[in-house]
Amino acid sequence: MDRFVYADNAATTRVSDAVVQAMLPYFTEHYGNPSSLYHMGQEAHAAVDEARKKVAKALGAAENEIFFTSGGSEADNWAIKGVARKLGAQGKKHIITTKFEHHAVLHTVQALEKEGFEVTYLDVYHNGVVHPEDVAAAIRPDTCLVTILYANNEIGTIQPIPQIGRICKDNGVLFHTDAVQAVGQVEIDVKDQCIDLLSLSGHKLHGPKGIGALYCRRGLRLPNLIEGGAQESGRRAGTENVPSIVGLGVAIEEACRDIPGRTKEIAKLRDALIEEVLKIPRSRLNGDREQRLCGNANFCFEGIEGESLLLLLDFNGVAGSSGSACTSGSLDPSHVLLAIGLPHEIAHGSLRLSLGDYNTMEDVRHIAEVLPPIVQRLRDMSPLWDEIIKNEKKPN
Ligand SMILES: *Cc1c(COP(=O)(O)O)cnc(C)c1O
Repeated sequence: MDRFVYADNAATTRVSDAVVQAMLPYFTEHYGNPSSLYHMGQEAHAAVDEARKKVAKALGAAENEIFFTSGGSEADNWAIKGVARKLGAQGKKHIITTKFEHHAVLHTVQALEKEGFEVTYLDVYHNGVVHPEDVAAAIRPDTCLVTILYANNEIGTIQPIPQIGRICKDNGVLFHTDAVQAVGQVEIDVKDQCIDLLSLSGHKLHGPKGIGALYCRRGLRLPNLIEGGAQESGRRAGTENVPSIVGLGVAIEEACRDIPGRTKEIAKLRDALIEEVLKIPRSRLNGDREQRLCGNANFCFEGIEGESLLLLLDFNGVAGSSGSACTSGSLDPSHVLLAIGLPHEIAHGSLRLSLGDYNTMEDVRHIAEVLPPIVQRLRDMSPLWDEIIKNEKKPN
């Protein structure tokens, strides 16, 4: 095997060279503590300020509305639990979300359910898109928060966030969005889009792992996440992860510099990939064809299992991902695919290929070459597939 194709950019991305170069001096030269008063500390402090400015600019926010976290999961937890603590104490104990959130959101609201919060899980329909009118209909006097992800990490569908934001604002309900997959792919302006809280992560946009940020609208004071020093305005204490913060700043600046231009190039690859893969009999694309992230292609192949498919793809130099919850070691089909109404047996045979800045048309051609024979091989061994073919031949 000579070719290696990385097609799992929704799981994580390669750190860009510019990001690495920007980070390096903060390990070995400017390693001062940003809280120290001497020169080297102040250099580090200035670098953190500069990165905060870059993150704020990418979102249309102010610098003092950006709080660095250890990643997307932490930002999600902080936003949701923070609002719940603050408004739950005033008797507002109802949260609205969707059935296909990332687990960082889903498991957080489930934990709150155990504490007496009530959660409405909105449908996402067959195309994987939430209807804004469903959000409006679900809002109650005791609703404290609407949390809906900007773009789904498995099927790539982009949600009507500006409309949902407007509905929340008109109803006086706080609105959080997990925008980890969307930042750098979709134009975001937190003010125009009426977003109160937004989560993002470095490693999904060619920045380092273990760094992210929470945007929290001015005037909305959430309970502190970590008590200690005065870092992050005293709301999340602990000496700053300076190199990673610097890396996140550069990464988000690069990702947001020319969103239409960059995404158009990636979308060309995605469209070519989708066209090729759908030539495989009994295959389908999951999620809306148009309203999706530029790099996301998520397929189901009847009669096979996602895990075996991934292994054989790996042998053939392709890194992809399955919708199944393989991380938990369970063979449960993806909650996202079930939420868009796929039956269990079909949801098992899913494959997510997510393309990014470093992919080429050569990569697409390689996948188009190796994937069909792998699917065929697995079907030849599959009792499920025999069943499907038998039923097809049966006269009605
Ligand atoms: C990756 C991801 C997260 C988690 O971000 P981490 O930085 O890995 O904690 C949260 N939400 C979505 C939609 C993601 O894709």
